[in-house]
Amino acid sequence: MEVTRSRDYFIAGNWKMHKTRAEAAALAKALVKALKPGKHKYLVAPTFTALETVGAIVKGTNILLGAQNCAPEEQGAHTGEVSVLQLKDLGVDAIILGHSERRHIYKEDDTLINKKVKLALKHGFEVILCVGELLEEREKGKAEAVCKRQTEKGLAGVTPEELSKITIAYEPVWAIGTGKTATPDDAEAIHAYIRSVIAKLYGAQAAKQIVIQYGGSVKAENAAQLMAKEDIDGALVGGAALKEETFAPIAKFS
Ligand code: PEP
Repeated sequence: MEVTRSRDYFIAGNWKMHKTRAEAAALAKALVKALKPGKHKYLVAPTFTALETVGAIVKGTNILLGAQNCAPEEQGAHTGEVSVLQLKDLGVDAIILGHSERRHIYKEDDTLINKKVKLALKHGFEVILCVGELLEEREKGKAEAVCKRQTEKGLAGVTPEELSKITIAYEPVWAIGTGKTATPDDAEAIHAYIRSVIAKLYGAQAAKQIVIQYGGSVKAENAAQLMAKEDIDGALVGGAALKEETFAPIAKFS
């Protein structure tokens, strides 16, 4: 049975700590060409040092410019951090926050992530808020509880109006960069659950509208099956986002 969708698909590429400016420019140019005209909403998130270069290439196209993180403060003595004011200055449209690599390698907790989410929203950015359980949490039957906590705490203090700027990315940590993808049914179960958490927080209409991406070893071969699920509204792509040949087929899935 064909699912009637009320949400647009949103496909985002997270380039992580890869690519020099020249390499990033080449990929951005190839994607601008490949994704025009595109059927869905698109974003690329280069490393900070390539934001200006890539921003100049995607400006005025159907590809949004994303940053992979921001500082929890607007400015000040925060050595090594990048602020929302600086990202605004570079023309960034959206910020990925709470990525599992930030949570688990750099020990960012829900309170810090929530501070960043609120600051990014205050400055008019879209936010992709990543949530997802570790393998041992899944094996202990805690996947839903972890996603509930990360969603609720990540969104604490976010108003119903601001919620329209939020995309949730469900990224089971055990599926990121491992080649292991959640089955479409397993992913759908958590997506539907996260939508129910949003319904409790913001009401049924907001839950119907919020875009929930799946992330974790998405590739051209599994994208269409994942996207066919009722509550999966797009993808946050890591490894396969690093080449036009592997990202464009995901972005243009049908
Ligand atoms: C990610 O880092 O957000 C991600 C989903 O990576 P990969 O596609 O490589 O699993």
